[in-house]
Amino acid sequence: MNICPGLNTRPPGNRERRVQPKPSTHRRRLGTRGTTTTMAIPPLDQRKLHLDTLMVDTVSVGEDPFQSSMPPIFQTATFGQPGATEGGKYDYNRSGNPTRDVLEKTLARIEDAHAAYAYSSGMSALAAVTRLLAAGDHIVAGDDLYGGTSRLLSRVVPSCGIDVSNVDTTSLEEVKKAMIPGKTKLVMLESPTNPRMQICDIKAICAHAKSIGAITCVDNSILTPLYQKPLDLGADISMTSATKFIGGHSDVTGGILAVRDPELAQRLYFVQNAEGTGLGPMDCWLLIRGLKTMALRMERQVSNCERLVEWVRTQPLVKKVNFAGLEEFPGNDVHRAQASSAGSLFSFTTGDEDVSRIICEHAKLFKITVSFGNVHSLISMPCFMSHASIPAEVREARGLPNDLVRLSVGIERAEDLIEDLAYAFGKAQEFVDGTRAP
Ligand code: PLP
Repeated sequence: MNICPGLNTRPPGNRERRVQPKPSTHRRRLGTRGTTTTMAIPPLDQRKLHLDTLMVDTVSVGEDPFQSSMPPIFQTATFGQPGATEGGKYDYNRSGNPTRDVLEKTLARIEDAHAAYAYSSGMSALAAVTRLLAAGDHIVAGDDLYGGTSRLLSRVVPSCGIDVSNVDTTSLEEVKKAMIPGKTKLVMLESPTNPRMQICDIKAICAHAKSIGAITCVDNSILTPLYQKPLDLGADISMTSATKFIGGHSDVTGGILAVRDPELAQRLYFVQNAEGTGLGPMDCWLLIRGLKTMALRMERQVSNCERLVEWVRTQPLVKKVNFAGLEEFPGNDVHRAQASSAGSLFSFTTGDEDVSRIICEHAKLFKITVSFGNVHSLISMPCFMSHASIPAEVREARGLPNDLVRLSVGIERAEDLIEDLAYAFGKAQEFVDGTRAP
């Protein structure tokens, strides 16, 4: 059974970026029999490269006398200047660093953006976006957002005199109703959302936001530009927590913003420099390395995830599976139109907090860990972990149940992951049958 019909797990950019087939030999026979003409093989057209190639093909930012295979790590706080009254390309790490430039320029090319900026975390990237606003402005945001984003919007942003409305972004009408012309300056979206994988119509929401003069920021951490390109859908800012798939090994924290508008880029750079939130050189280098294997990792994670979703949805203990790749999942048609894969995250409910906990605690290959996008498979109960900072009554009002289990599927063998889950589900079944203590 194909649980993701129409989703081909190929980068969306590939459709436009397909490389022209090359002639198989250097000489091709043309015209009358016996005459051979040498055809020039066209040079590689950089604009037509696939996203997975762009991830490996790091952008260079200057001359490297040693032609190092990996960009050097400029682990320095300061750079010497040509003279006391003359500036060089770099002077101070907070304002600019060649290693950060390599990462930012490589990501800008991947996103087809004017510029990309790398921050010390996904949260500092999102906080930088809110810095574009002033007291009296208004933000419309989703009501199923990552817990840290919810905390930023409910406990930090309001103290700057900015109002926030949280709405169900699966309903275009609700989002439109919440936008106040002249006051709403920013719309913050996730699609799929974390942790319920809800889908919103990014294109339609961005178009409406634009019509009232608001900018839109899409947190694309779950799919990354490999599978969904918010800027192509009309978003002004594409945000990715690089801690997840770009790093891929849970050994670095970072966040990325990519924009097409040069003026917006300038404003973001100003904030990055003014607040000193740019990512350090060593972490930039780790992300450059992570990017090179990201497409391969994600392809394996997606195919593993589809196998696991198929298995989990047949389990009697499971009440509901949230996965954008399921044909019957609300918004599946919208998702198919705006993304090329459903990703490697899904969540499910069991109807019982203890049952969910027993499943989590008995899985061994799935580590009980916050975050996602790692090569290892992870399992979590968001209400007690990544989303615990959202007050219980708010979680309840938003329909975020305590028994929700979220899985981030890694690159292990799918068979082993299924065997691991089968054992954990078996233990939970023993509890339900009364043959095991909670
Ligand atoms: N956005 C989403 C969807 C997340 O899940 C997270 C973290 O889990 C973030 C943003 C924040 O990113 P970071 O942890 O890199 O600050």
